Amino acid sequence: MAGHPTARAPWWRFDAMRLSSRMAMLSVLLLLAVQLVGFGVIHTTIERNARSQLAEQLTVGERIWQRLLEQRATQLAQGAAVLAADYAFREAVGTHDNPTIVSALDNHGARIDASVAAFLDTELKLVATSDASDSALLPVLAALAPQLARRTSAVAAVGQRPYQFVMVPMKSPLLVGFVVMGFALDATLAEDMHALSGLDATLVLQPASAAPRVLLSSLAPAQATALQQTLAAAPAEGQLLIDGTPHLVRSVALTAGDGPRIRAMLTSSLARAIEPFRSLQLTLAALTLIGLLLFALGSILTARRVTQPLRSLARASERLGRGDYDAPLEHTHRRDEIGELAKAFDHMRVNIAAQQGEIRLLAYWDRLTGLPNRVQFRDAVRAAIARSNAAHEHIAVLMLDLDRFKNVNDALGYASGDSLLKGVAERLQQAMQSQAAQRAALAGGNPVSAGDLLARLGGDEFALLLPGADARAASALAEQLLLAFEAPLTLIDQAVDLSAGVGIACWPEHAADADALLIRAEVAMYAAKAHTGGAQVYDPAIDTASALTLSLLSELRHALEHDELRLYLQPKIALSSGRATGAEALVRWQHPQRGLVPPLQFIPFAERTGFIRRITLWIFEETARYQAELQRLGIARISVNLSTRDLLDHELPAKLDTLLQRHGAVAQAFCLEITESAIMDDPERAEATLNRLAERGFKLSIDDYGTGYSSLAYLQRLPVNELKIDKAFVMAMVNEPGAATIVRSTIDLAHNLGLTVVAEGVENAAILEHLRSLHCDDAQGFHMSKPLPVAEFEAWMLRWQALNPPSRRTP
Ligand code: C2E
Ligand code: CA
Ligand code: CA
Repeated sequence: MAGHPTARAPWWRFDAMRLSSRMAMLSVLLLLAVQLVGFGVIHTTIERNARSQLAEQLTVGERIWQRLLEQRATQLAQGAAVLAADYAFREAVGTHDNPTIVSALDNHGARIDASVAAFLDTELKLVATSDASDSALLPVLAALAPQLARRTSAVAAVGQRPYQFVMVPMKSPLLVGFVVMGFALDATLAEDMHALSGLDATLVLQPASAAPRVLLSSLAPAQATALQQTLAAAPAEGQLLIDGTPHLVRSVALTAGDGPRIRAMLTSSLARAIEPFRSLQLTLAALTLIGLLLFALGSILTARRVTQPLRSLARASERLGRGDYDAPLEHTHRRDEIGELAKAFDHMRVNIAAQQGEIRLLAYWDRLTGLPNRVQFRDAVRAAIARSNAAHEHIAVLMLDLDRFKNVNDALGYASGDSLLKGVAERLQQAMQSQAAQRAALAGGNPVSAGDLLARLGGDEFALLLPGADARAASALAEQLLLAFEAPLTLIDQAVDLSAGVGIACWPEHAADADALLIRAEVAMYAAKAHTGGAQVYDPAIDTASALTLSLLSELRHALEHDELRLYLQPKIALSSGRATGAEALVRWQHPQRGLVPPLQFIPFAERTGFIRRITLWIFEETARYQAELQRLGIARISVNLSTRDLLDHELPAKLDTLLQRHGAVAQAFCLEITESAIMDDPERAEATLNRLAERGFKLSIDDYGTGYSSLAYLQRLPVNELKIDKAFVMAMVNEPGAATIVRSTIDLAHNLGLTVVAEGVENAAILEHLRSLHCDDAQGFHMSKPLPVAEFEAWMLRWQALNPPSRRTP
């Protein structure tokens, strides 16, 4: 792969070549090898053929040579015979007329160019020679005479020249003597030989005790000289290098008997014999070359046909790797294996693209409503901020959370919950569009703001992105949306009232980046829900611990699963006897880094997220576990706090039943504290749950009484037993007459309604005394004890009860 620092082998290394070059190269090499072997076989065959042909030619050549010599001998013998038959000559021989003999020898010898002409007697003794005869020849002639008697001609060297001798008998009618004639052999004989047979002839003299030498030759002078050089080592028959070129040679002995020998060397160059085949070989070589080229071209093309698609497949897979699934694959139309591969690959591409699309859909879209989801919304906010940064524009994010959605889910089932969400999504979309249209009509321009985006963030939470909008414009839209919610939504046959809390946060006033903007909008939304409902623009005052909030949920979950929560108990005393008769269960978080975290730092958050339900169950189970023991210490009833979310949980009573059973506790030993606001969030539903809890024997208490707006007359309808005056009034009652009045009238009213009254926040003896004088029933506060860990509670109890024995009336 590109980018890897592996050293590439040089191009000429076979393993570094491209596949196509390798394939082409391999087949070309194979072809070349085959051709070379063929060429070699043909070459040797040709050479062998040429050699045997040449050898045969040489054999034939030898006969031709003999015939040439014989023919010449016959010619010469005829000349000699003419003389022998000459009447005048015979008469001169018969009369021993020596001068006539000599002159006849002279005449005839000169006529046929004889170098010597002589007459021998029957004893082969030299009788006369012509005047023109070469005297050097005479001794040779005398020596040869006995040989010539047996055959008609003989060759002999005289000095450095070869001669041919013939001898014919002269009869009249009896043998009277012999006529002998000798002729110099010259290059014409060799040239005749060459003309007749195509072979070169060379006469070589081999003296008895000297190096052989060339006498005459039909070879070119340079070659003859070269031959002279190699002559000593030359074989009589076989191969011989003349001037560096191979020749075949065959020798024919011309002389017999003693004396310097002469032989004829017949030679022919091998190259000449091969010559006719040479052009054949050249043609073959040319054909081979053309074949190779064609073959190389063919295999390159074939290899290309294979490797090109492979390369394009490789490119395609790189594209797939980059996440580009759009371009279809090439070569899918081919009918071969490559085509199949390409088709399979393309199939894979389409599948991956589909899966990728699916994943993207899951990752960016909400399945139920078809709206963008939280991830996409967050991206869009980021992008909008990036754009607006340059344009110096505002951005508003509007977050909306339905009220009581859980009720719909619980009461009507999840299918109804789903259709409710879809209905809400539609309404929001319509409201958004009509608002955009209004805006456009006012501005006389663009009908829809291009960047407006509606998303479902999850559950019953929706969000709107409004690029270009400030807090005022966003608030106007929020009003519009809430207005759209006024008409109830019909699910199957049930009309459901819609309401929601809307939070608004603006960039850049409220947050610097997308995540912070979303959190601020959420904080504003929770504030809206906690207070009046309707819309709330973000205000730093409502968001004190947002940084802490961020990771809190996961930390809380972790806390619950890893036993970081602690049960604390705060005693309640009966004012009439001074004895501790009750206790409130309060939660603490033993955080590994932050230490003991007070509930106000995480309970409100847990309430917002619904996590409080798990905390409630945990604290309830813990108190149920200690219930019997507390009973033994004199605690008749333990108070446990419930939140709004608990009240809306349909299954809470059943869950509490299970826990009671598990620890063998009874409902009568528990008092459940509920704040006014928890009830007022959804009074109908709260009432239903409270009734079911009361039925089981749980005592119910209104916590933080005085901070809400509920009337006692309304509370009277509920199955409550106790009123807990909020500590703000209790703590203030010594200094503020107004607070004291409220406490007094509340106690009176509650008693009139048959409720017992508890005052919390009793911080000193003065308050305690004041409450006692007002006939308040129970008191809880730091004056008696702060909330204590379970382990310390028993010691406190023993101490306290000892100070306040049962018989005494006042503590
Ligand atoms: P709360 O239900 O009103 O609990 C009484 C709070 O008043 C406790 O605070 C307690 O420590 C405090 N308090 C008692 N006597 C005095 C006093 O003389 N002077 C002053 N200044 N304060 C006094 P804590 O434990 O910090 O709890 C705060 C709130 O957290 C609770 O108010 C309750 O709303 C919530 N909370 C605590 N534990 C739980 C729980 O287990 N479940 C639920 N749902 N809420 C809890
Ligand atoms: Ca309480
Ligand atoms: Ca309280």
